Amino acid sequence: MSTSLLYHAFGIRGYRYTRTDYQGGQVIFTIRQGPETCRCSACGARDVRPRGCVTRRFRSLPIAGRSTFVVLPIPRVECSACGRVRQVEVPFVDPRRSYTRPFERYALELSRRMTIRDVALHLGVGWDVIKEIQKRDLARRFGAVPK
Ligand SMILES: [Zn+2]
Repeated sequence: MSTSLLYHAFGIRGYRYTRTDYQGGQVIFTIRQGPETCRCSACGARDVRPRGCVTRRFRSLPIAGRSTFVVLPIPRVECSACGRVRQVEVPFVDPRRSYTRPFERYALELSRRMTIRDVALHLGVGWDVIKEIQKRDLARRFGAVPK
């Protein structure tokens, strides 16, 4: 896996590739963020000091019918400008979601041609995940309040 494939195929840009694992039919890419690219997620300052990390796992686009996941230790940093300690932003994931933005777009594209149940089966997720993605899309486009 190269960083250019991460970007062009999976929509993940600006990270370093660590390794790929194969577990129970799933493909798991581990990536990392270089400390030089970390910024404060509150004020945007670049002058930050490392304060550990929080490892998270996100569902990504499937490859040939296999589920893929991206594992990322998200750096926590202390900001010299505003003094806050926070995780840096993860631009390829919406806050509080367990899947990547490209995964969400792909699910929406499939939803135009397949039933929710078929999309969920194809992507290996629950029906509720696809329903939630559709609801959020409607809210974005029409300004409805998502539940
Ligand atoms: Zn700050």
